[in-house]
Amino acid sequence: MNDVDSDVIVLGAGFAGLAAAQRLRSAGCRVLLLEARDRVGGRVMPGELAGRTIDLGGQWVGVGHERLSMLAGEAGRPLLPQYTEGQKLLAAGGRQRRYRGLIPPVSPGALLGMGWALWRLRRLQQRVSAAAPWTAADAEQLDACTVAQWRNRNLPTAGGRALFDVATRAVFCVEPDQLSMLAFLHYLAANGSVEALTSTTDGAQAATVDGGMHALARHLAEPLQAQLRLSTPVQAVDQDAEGVSVRADGVTYRARRLIVAMAPALSGRIAMQGISAAREQLAQRMPMGSVIKCQIAYERPFWREQGLSGEYVGSSAVFSPVFDNSPADGSCGALVGFIDGTEAVRWSGQAEARRCAVIDSLVAAFGAQAAEPLDYVDQDWIADPWSRGCYTGVPTPGTLSRLGPALREPCGAVHWAGTETAEAWCGYIEGALNSGERAAAEVLEAMA
Ligand SMILES: Cc1cc2nc3c(=O)[nH]c(=O)nc-3n(C[C@H](O)[C@H](O)[C@H](O)COP(=O)(O)OP(=O)(O)OC[C@H]3O[C@@H](n4cnc5c(N)ncnc54)[C@H](O)[C@@H]3O)c2cc1C
Repeated sequence: MNDVDSDVIVLGAGFAGLAAAQRLRSAGCRVLLLEARDRVGGRVMPGELAGRTIDLGGQWVGVGHERLSMLAGEAGRPLLPQYTEGQKLLAAGGRQRRYRGLIPPVSPGALLGMGWALWRLRRLQQRVSAAAPWTAADAEQLDACTVAQWRNRNLPTAGGRALFDVATRAVFCVEPDQLSMLAFLHYLAANGSVEALTSTTDGAQAATVDGGMHALARHLAEPLQAQLRLSTPVQAVDQDAEGVSVRADGVTYRARRLIVAMAPALSGRIAMQGISAAREQLAQRMPMGSVIKCQIAYERPFWREQGLSGEYVGSSAVFSPVFDNSPADGSCGALVGFIDGTEAVRWSGQAEARRCAVIDSLVAAFGAQAAEPLDYVDQDWIADPWSRGCYTGVPTPGTLSRLGPALREPCGAVHWAGTETAEAWCGYIEGALNSGERAAAEVLEAMA
């Protein structure tokens, strides 16, 4: 057994852990960063499609993601605006229609109902704080109501409900009856609005990073080479009066403080001593969403020739939403999209069958030219043992109001980071950076 002494150990080299380690190192701390995978970046992961580097995980920089934009600037990686020229496609109620802008081509009744529901949501989200949603006056009541129940009461038409469900799945990767209104409103408060979360221009899908998001994880990790141990899955954490002992594959590492920088569903798999009952329970009641991200390359972006932007939403499609992901140099065409919620659970573990289902979906949306891709790649995040689902941990109804404070409340010498703990932009890379910096500041204060 080896003993390695540090001031602080950080578990997890995703953006949260990297940001925390970086901040602590700059403050002169001896830091050790332990990562289970053989790479940094966590839920941000590089892949290859038609000979080009792509993002199999987190990809877009949203409007207001200031830390991430700054990081891209520091790394010398320009932001590339998401391609949005042309018309979008909406398949709903057995018909496919083209449209522009934010207003979908649905019946006047459905449109009126959706306008009313969005107005109600904007009003409701003002009652919920992004940093501490459990402090809302009616937090328990909102947490006891599922999004499905609220949608049934507030959206009168079947068409409006179906579109609302598509948006909920696309953002949370769970079904509307698996999500509470408090968790839903918290996400809106932390990230703007339903419109911002689902939009390209002016929203969460505004731009990509030249060379891929993973380049920014590598940039953050560069100065941390001496502190970083890859392929080091941590199994146990013990605490005593001096600090923490962290066990990974037979090696014990010692430090005064520990930052656990990962989703609660992952931290709950580590045998941890000295953890509060609330945090223990929270880790069991915040499962990951279900998503498979799929990318398809074509010889050229043929949909642009038809006046289409590549953006597609289908209320009953396996593969939806879809966006244009073609390289800026126009060397080929590419589409990116998601299988989410229950559909992702259904298609997980069926690589060949889901490839066919995705291509069939694209043929239905964009026509016969979609049948002959140059290349196809997907990432089943449910099957990934170090994520167990994505994009983020989603508290089950009744959890956030009762156990929410345990997200960030330190347990002895153990502090918590990860996008799920962020006080703003939670669920996003921006939130991961924000959480890592907050946890590092917390540790520095505790050790002063
Ligand atoms: C398909 C997909 C699309 C997304 N799209 C976007 C997007 O466009 N824009 C955006 O901003 N966000 C997006 N996200 C979300 C974004 O990627 C995450 O919010 C962010 O990367 C989370 O970072 P983190 O550091 O909090 O957690 P993680 O990245 O999960 O990092 C946690 C780390 O801990 C490690 N770990 C786990 N268990 C152990 C253990 N026992 N021992 C040691 N290490 C361990 C993991 O391997 C991992 O590296 C997307 C995510 C996915 C999967």
